[in-house]
Amino acid sequence: HRIITSAAQLDDEALEASIRPKRLSEYLGQQAVREQLSIYIEAAKKRGGALDHVLIFGPPGLGKTTLSHVIANELGVNVRSTSGPVLERAGDLAALLTNLEAHDVLFVDEIHRLSPVVEEVLYPAMEDFQIDIMIGEGPAARSIKLDLPPFTLIGATTRAGLLTAPLRDRFGIVLRLEFYSPEELTAIVRRSARILGIACELDGAQEIARRSRGTPRIANRLLRRVRDYAEVRANGHITYDVAQAAMNMLKVDAEGFDELDRRLLNIIIENFDGGPVGVESLAAALSEDRGTLEDVVEPYLIQQGFLVRTARGRMASAKAWRHLGLTPPPRQPQ
Ligand code: ATP
Repeated sequence: HRIITSAAQLDDEALEASIRPKRLSEYLGQQAVREQLSIYIEAAKKRGGALDHVLIFGPPGLGKTTLSHVIANELGVNVRSTSGPVLERAGDLAALLTNLEAHDVLFVDEIHRLSPVVEEVLYPAMEDFQIDIMIGEGPAARSIKLDLPPFTLIGATTRAGLLTAPLRDRFGIVLRLEFYSPEELTAIVRRSARILGIACELDGAQEIARRSRGTPRIANRLLRRVRDYAEVRANGHITYDVAQAAMNMLKVDAEGFDELDRRLLNIIIENFDGGPVGVESLAAALSEDRGTLEDVVEPYLIQQGFLVRTARGRMASAKAWRHLGLTPPPRQPQ
């Protein structure tokens, strides 16, 4: 009779926290971003000042939140986290800003969803470390200026193009996260398996990595689901065959596509003759939100060459046809 390990008793969220990298050296992949950051962080520490404001953009799950905590750890400062939609009133942001200590990091996820009034408060805060707040109402209302400690704003967003120009211009450091290579994801899966005490062979880890859509969050999630399968069917040991069988059961195919990916390609091919089709029609046909398609589904399909964005809309490439077991018509982009 097997005794359940303590790791298995923790819920997914606690597991997630235990494998989240804390230092730049544990943050795998994203070579260019890490190189730049280590220089800027060292320079800021030498100067004894706050790091310049940082904008991080990239598809969900690539490690924006993780990176912002890594930056704060490397600077040796506190991090306060919030998100664009949560900051409803100017006062919400003012309260956060006035509670910061010198050189602290304020992390704002989904920064493109700040309301215009809150964004107005942010400009002078970022530029001069000052805010203007209104006290009172009607004729008695007056504005007072408050000085803030120098701080670093780290904003995260899925696409840099979603930000207003004045906000984007106020970030001194702009970092773009890329999809991870299968080799980088293999290293991430092996690191997570080691921390979680999961027995995982190299080719098992490689297979999980290959099917993770270039995304560490997906890699870590698949690792946990494959572990569940391995514990029930294979003495807890993840081999290549176990990884494959588990992911087939999860309907994650050889390219790492899930059902939504396949449905999207299928609909372009079957309902729209391979495209071009506008994103709105596509969203309607899939009963999905346009933002989800643009931010979550499409970027990886485009990066892998299954989907092509043209001036007249999206087209499925010949590769997409073949992936679905169909013969591409000759006019289709490769
Ligand atoms: P969202 O934008 O939706 O918040 P995100 O891009 O901020 O997503 P995170 O939550 O930071 O993504 O990362 C997802 C998980 O992937 C983390 O819990 C972490 O364990 C893992 N991870 C992310 N980046 C890396 C990395 N470079 N090396 C190792 N693990 C990573």
